[in-house]
Amino acid sequence: MFNVETIRKDFPILTRKVNGKPLVYFDNAATSQKPQQVIDAIVDYYSNYNSNIHRGVHSLSQEATDKYELARHKIQKHFNAQFAHEIIFTSGTTHSINLVASGFSSLLKKGDEIIVSALEHHSNIVPWQMLCERTGAILKVIPMNQDGDLIMSEYDKLLSKQTKLVFVNHISNALGTINPIKYIIDKAHQVDAAVLIDGAQACPHLKPDVQALDVDFYVASAHKMCGPTGVGMLYGKEAWLNKLPPYQGGGEMIAEVTFQKTTYAELPHKFEAGTPNICGGIAFGAAIDYMNTIGFDVIAHYEQDLLEYATLKLHEIEGLKIYGTSKNKTSVISFNLEGIHPYDVGTILDKMGIAVRTGHHCAQPIMDYFKIPGTIRASFAFYNTKSEIDSLVNAIKKAKMMLS
Ligand SMILES: *Cc1c(COP(=O)(O)O)cnc(C)c1O
Repeated sequence: MFNVETIRKDFPILTRKVNGKPLVYFDNAATSQKPQQVIDAIVDYYSNYNSNIHRGVHSLSQEATDKYELARHKIQKHFNAQFAHEIIFTSGTTHSINLVASGFSSLLKKGDEIIVSALEHHSNIVPWQMLCERTGAILKVIPMNQDGDLIMSEYDKLLSKQTKLVFVNHISNALGTINPIKYIIDKAHQVDAAVLIDGAQACPHLKPDVQALDVDFYVASAHKMCGPTGVGMLYGKEAWLNKLPPYQGGGEMIAEVTFQKTTYAELPHKFEAGTPNICGGIAFGAAIDYMNTIGFDVIAHYEQDLLEYATLKLHEIEGLKIYGTSKNKTSVISFNLEGIHPYDVGTILDKMGIAVRTGHHCAQPIMDYFKIPGTIRASFAFYNTKSEIDSLVNAIKKAKMMLS
């Protein structure tokens, strides 16, 4: 049985005060908090077996290598990848996307087309624009509607023999929309285009199965799913990873080096130049263990309950407008108070110990669509409570009185 009070005890930060008030942390879409189990994994690494991996004959190095590779296997199992070497450790989603975008430079030609969606994070727009500049490929955008749903009939029309790549996020960080990625992947494959799904915002809430999805690339960051910052993953189908050239040159990624020629290491090391974030990778594995111990079905069910409760309560505030009203969404609520700048509301909420995000959420095209400068975004995790939502609602009412 899920008991949120027991869960909260795993997160030391949740007991602290901010500006004299108990912390209410509703900025989970930016980064999640970390449970003691993950903090312990980090302390254990540096206290007991810190060492460089893959090249030492000594025991510590072996131990660190084993733990790092065990983490890779945990990630493989979690995402149901066929092989462990299809999991590449990166510094996060942004790095993973850039790795793939850079690799495609040599595979695209002028006139090829790349499709992205109107709901993308900047980190899923800019690398493709740069790729288009390098190759002469053309960027096309799947439009969205007022609810924040992508319009699939328009997507169908964009697909053609010229389409080489499709890049969509699994869940929008700005609005919380869950995109119909299975449909998007299947349709893209009908024209032989590859698909990369940005799972940064999905992985805290659900457990993707990359084989069932038949996705070509799937990327995520550890820090949004209870792990540390500075580490993430790229899943790629073996055939695609073999086709892509290495991203960076350096140690670890080579088989043999002479001044005439270098041959590259096998997967996954071909994409892992230099000393990686060893501790981060191991703690990423601990985070995945932690979340699976709670269970993603339980997490999704609980968060959905929080979302419904918060939506209902927020709607009671006059002049409050919610952006992103898809029937398929996760526990993210973007909203504004009529005539009041989101930043001013965020500042007052902070005085009351409530952490929300204000601004464009690295998704300016979405804000342009709604013709607003930004929103206030409250994003909930499985360790949040209804009573915290009540605090938010009361604080917004207070802010509204002070500002209008
Ligand atoms: C957070 C986020 C990113 C960027 O992740 P980093 O960890 O900053 O690299 C990309 N896409 C989405 C949808 C996100 O939510």
